[in-house]
Amino acid sequence: KTYSIESTGVAEDMLPGESWIWEKDTGSCLSRFQSLLYRKISHQKISPYLLNKIRDYEEHHKRCAPYTEMYNRTIKELESGIVSEPTGCHYVVWTALEGLGNRILSMASAFLYAVITDRVFLVEFEADMIDLFCEPFPNTSWLLPADFPLKNQFKLLDQMFPHSYGNMMKTNTIKTMMELSPLSMYLYLAHDADDHDTLFFCQEHQAFLGNIPWLIIKSDQYFTPSLFLIPSFDPKLNKMFPNKEIVFHNLAHYLFQPSNRAWGLITRFYESYLAKADKRVGLQIRIFDRKVSPFHVVMDQILACTIKEKKILAGVNTHELVVPPSINLTTKAVVVTSLYSEYYEHIKNLYWMAPTVNGEVVGVYQPSHEGIQHFGDHMHNMKAWVEMNLLSLCDELITSSWSTFGYVSQGLGGLRPWILVKPENRMTPHPACGRAESMEPCYHSPPSYECRTGPKVNADLGAIVPHVNHCEDFNTGLKLF
Ligand code: GDP
Repeated sequence: KTYSIESTGVAEDMLPGESWIWEKDTGSCLSRFQSLLYRKISHQKISPYLLNKIRDYEEHHKRCAPYTEMYNRTIKELESGIVSEPTGCHYVVWTALEGLGNRILSMASAFLYAVITDRVFLVEFEADMIDLFCEPFPNTSWLLPADFPLKNQFKLLDQMFPHSYGNMMKTNTIKTMMELSPLSMYLYLAHDADDHDTLFFCQEHQAFLGNIPWLIIKSDQYFTPSLFLIPSFDPKLNKMFPNKEIVFHNLAHYLFQPSNRAWGLITRFYESYLAKADKRVGLQIRIFDRKVSPFHVVMDQILACTIKEKKILAGVNTHELVVPPSINLTTKAVVVTSLYSEYYEHIKNLYWMAPTVNGEVVGVYQPSHEGIQHFGDHMHNMKAWVEMNLLSLCDELITSSWSTFGYVSQGLGGLRPWILVKPENRMTPHPACGRAESMEPCYHSPPSYECRTGPKVNADLGAIVPHVNHCEDFNTGLKLF
């Protein structure tokens, strides 16, 4: 079914979440169908214009996918430097940086950029990223082939890389760059990108980059909010996302369906520990610095947030040994995710050692405790992906400030989480947590260079359009509302 391109995208026109499913899907990706059974009926909808855009994208991807005639021609051009006839295939290649949460957020942003600029989106996955997700596009592949000619440059791409757009702009003007008419360009849009790198987000630079067949993006950021500041993208973005709070939710549901292996891990845990509870509570505990956030400070904070302030969980009555059984007993399942097991142990013991004040039964579960972040480890990434999904299946979510792991969970779940305020000076903050006003992830390191309303350095990019504002947990970051 196709939907009218003319659709205004107003709320009444919005389509249900399951509209993503392809009509002729063979069912090879179980989560694509089965997740509907696990998620509450999503109140988050898809605009018909977005769905149409994605269906067009899928056709375009199929025409230009790896090893198609068009792809082979663009590769020949790239190798020889000689362009014959235009193939109609331009690409964005995404390459990984940092942890899985960062990767998922930057992939979603790079994909959105590809859709808006009519490019084909390919990802460079090493062994640690294989088989986490289903293939998102029907009857084709999003994987960059291993023999892609520029692949050996990807590892070198960092802030100092001489061939990045930012560094080339430092030594050349756009005009001389245009004369060079390059066939590929490296874009460095990570946390330490500088004002030259982020010229990418300026309209005149987009006009130039539009002519380059291959763009290679390395980023660990959710840079989507800055795409909403590029004037020429406004008309499309407004129709794709009449509601700016569900941009990542929409993109994530489309792009990141758990592979069958991940789905097995998600559903077995869910059925064993979460399914039968009346309410599910997700608690994501990310400690960036154990010295600044020692165990007792964070533990006090979690209990202050969940029990005292927000009454998400019942308190315990240490004066009673047992409470009389009640027929309308509520049961709550808490899924804790953390690199450490000590938080889980403490909360589990709290509800074991004493009854709750209202008779509520609280079960506490933790899928894994990996100790430290590993790099290049497939099963480690798999566990992280599974846990992000388990958090997203909860009714209430409590997340840690600054964590992209938490952002992915809230976006997948369509949830506005309670965010644990970052402790300072080893003290439990008061209040302990606050509700996010939007479920969108935060772009931690946005540009400070303003080129939408006129060139200005050190500008406040959170004050330019109403829907791009500062983040609740990271006040120099930008977020969609
Ligand atoms: P961020 O650092 O919190 O923004 O999140 P990232 O996902 O980008 O990087 C942290 C990485 O550390 C994750 O991808 C995991 O590999 C690991 N990690 C951190 N917290 C957890 C957790 O609660 N569970 C699991 N399984 N891994 C975690």
